[in-house]
Amino acid sequence: MEDLTEEQIAAFETQLRALREDLVAALSDARTDTVELSSAQGRVSRVDALQQQQMALAEKRRNEARIRAIDAALRRVDDGAYGECTRCGEPIGDKRLEVRPEGPMCLACTRALGG
Ligand SMILES: [Zn+2]
Repeated sequence: MEDLTEEQIAAFETQLRALREDLVAALSDARTDTVELSSAQGRVSRVDALQQQQMALAEKRRNEARIRAIDAALRRVDDGAYGECTRCGEPIGDKRLEVRPEGPMCLACTRALGG
């Protein structure tokens, strides 16, 4: 696998920052307020509302985890270590980073850790 060029790293950095902004915006829009269980609501709609709240919470946690991964990737850009696997130090590969620019590890290491 080839090392990334400076241009590629700059492009991934731009992508990471845009992705982070989207996720932060999604988090501030997330409707995770406690569901009001008014007696006027039927049981089915209460179950529906609770399920929607659970899904919103799960998505919020995924987004928060992804923001943390993006922050870590941006630190690696600053350190000049972006694109290198955090486990084995080999290049992660641009094809893999195009799919998941915040990904910290190469395919072999991700598989080795069961990811
Ligand atoms: Zn690796």
